[in-house]
Amino acid sequence: MLILTCPYCGVTAEETELQPGGEAHLKRVGPGGTDEELEAYLFDRKNAKGVHFERWRHAYGCGRWFLAARCTVTLQVFGTYKAQNTHPPSDIVDSIRAARPDWTPDWTTT
Ligand SMILES: [Zn+2]
Repeated sequence: MLILTCPYCGVTAEETELQPGGEAHLKRVGPGGTDEELEAYLFDRKNAKGVHFERWRHAYGCGRWFLAARCTVTLQVFGTYKAQNTHPPSDIVDSIRAARPDWTPDWTTT
């Protein structure tokens, strides 16, 4: 069973109290985007085996969307964070690196 803590209200809830929202950190395509970019936005997903970032909604609680970092193989949760973040906070990245030393983020920091 997947158990996540809502970063807004602090309630720890089972996945039956939450609504999954798919992959996190997707970038929307603007009006000037190509058909290929729109198709990729709509359909291309990483479907990762291992570390994965997802959207969840605290459906039977505060109702807010948040993001979770977890392992899709073991269900280990590395942490949850507010949906406004464009990338996971450093404390979550550190806990992922501690558990999975070979993991590297697929985003670049500037
Ligand atoms: Zn909540």
